Amino acid sequence: MQTVGHFINGKYVEDQARTAPVTNPATGEVTKHVALASVKTVNEAIDAASKAFPAWRDTPPHKRARIMFKYKTLLERDAEEIAALITAEHGKVLDDAMGEFIRGLEVVEYACGAPSLLKGEHAKNVGPAIDSWSELQPLGVVAGITPFNFPAMVPMWMFPMAAVCGNTCIMKPSEKDPSVVLKLVELLSEAGLPEGVVNLVNGDKEAVDSLLTHPEVQALSFVGSTPIAEYIYATGTAHGKRVQALGGAKNHAIVMPDADIDNAVNALMGAAYGSCGERCMAISVAVCVGQETADEVVRKISDQIKTLKIGPGADVTNDMGPLVTQVHYEKVRSYVDLGVEEGASLVADGRGLVIEGYENGNFLGACLFDHVTSDMRIYKEEIFGPVLCVVRVETQDQAMTLIDAHEFGNGTCIFTRDGEAARYFTDRIKVGMVGVNVPLPVPVSIHSFGGWKRSLFGDLYAYGPDSIRFYTRRKTITQRWPKGGIREKIQFAFPSSGDKSD
Ligand code: NAD
Repeated sequence: MQTVGHFINGKYVEDQARTAPVTNPATGEVTKHVALASVKTVNEAIDAASKAFPAWRDTPPHKRARIMFKYKTLLERDAEEIAALITAEHGKVLDDAMGEFIRGLEVVEYACGAPSLLKGEHAKNVGPAIDSWSELQPLGVVAGITPFNFPAMVPMWMFPMAAVCGNTCIMKPSEKDPSVVLKLVELLSEAGLPEGVVNLVNGDKEAVDSLLTHPEVQALSFVGSTPIAEYIYATGTAHGKRVQALGGAKNHAIVMPDADIDNAVNALMGAAYGSCGERCMAISVAVCVGQETADEVVRKISDQIKTLKIGPGADVTNDMGPLVTQVHYEKVRSYVDLGVEEGASLVADGRGLVIEGYENGNFLGACLFDHVTSDMRIYKEEIFGPVLCVVRVETQDQAMTLIDAHEFGNGTCIFTRDGEAARYFTDRIKVGMVGVNVPLPVPVSIHSFGGWKRSLFGDLYAYGPDSIRFYTRRKTITQRWPKGGIREKIQFAFPSSGDKSD
């Protein structure tokens, strides 16, 4: 059986020393193994990145961008294969896999603009014969650690931007679905990226801790659950690194009484149950304003759930695939049990779903809880599965107070026909990414992605303009070329543009 190895210094590296199984979520079968890198292997990758840095730093941004243009065409050529790899190990339906891939591709397209994005700022005559400019210099070796739920898109938020900014990079993807990142990194070589510029190590905590503490690593981008994000941020910054660590979420959608309820219900179906709820921007709480709104939303969603087609992701006629692993299935299912114990009304119960021919797959049907209250654990904690909680309130302010009080602040949305209510919401709500009649307000690649509160540790968001700031360091140069023959006087006063009375 194949073991997914590493990719270091432009070469595939086999490693059977320590491995973990990779399963097909639809069948439960072990299809591959993944290598778990030792400290020695991670150090080899860091060494390769370190050696590649001086030449790559000095490569003109135009040349770096040209490689990205070539990379884009190769990605497009192999798009179907990439989407199939995502589905085989993550489980999501093929067209959803293609959607995530295209979102990643858009970051590569943004990276193609490197020459313009990396332009500095110039000021002439800031003093006598003195010019001054700021430039954006790369950091050196940087690392990216990514979660299972977007095995292509989230890594593509990181390495294209890190590389076009002139850094060299080490990626450490999730051990649950590692094959797609290997494919993405191999294509970089085909596009002409020099050896050692982007490396891949597969692994677990041992690999992550090596990256976190190695003095050569200058910056770390992390996306994953909040407890690990917090650990990465604390450990990385304690070791002097620049860190952005994106964490978990509990995204609320407010449904106002004046909303187009049918459209809101359709939007909620896709946002709650698409990708089996395994999205950090999934809507997991619908806050309905008014009892009549809540009654209608609950009735229409439970009707829609009956029509959901659930099965293996390779069949594009399915709406929803399996959860990623058996362990994750058990966790999500135990939250459904908990919700019942906590006293919420389980209107749609997805437990006990069996798909013929896929009896060992991690399939859980869509679950819908009504009358959820803010003291329940199913409300407070991230479930990361196809479980939607309905909370009933009487006013928009009550809905917003609830959202603001929640520990997470990744995404949110309001469904309304009232522009004033929408503006009040977008102005005040304490959440990083906000939608108005848009349930998954994932910023496009020309903006940046990030949440507030405990959904993000660090100051800078992922991709877009923030990624240029994250992957570069500003240097300001002040330069004088006095006319020949002029002797300058010794000056003890602090240099300035002249006397204030000038
Ligand atoms: P996870 O935190 O378990 O794993 C993420 C990465 O951290 C993996 O590469 C994993 O190998 C590594 N890791 C796990 N435990 C570790 C430890 N103890 N020490 C060091 N490294 C460790 O997350 P996951 O289950 O793969 O992904 C789902 C989570 O990611 C959800 O919480 C989801 O909300 C979040 N997520 C957030 C965003 C965002 O942009 N905010 C995007 C996608 C996913």
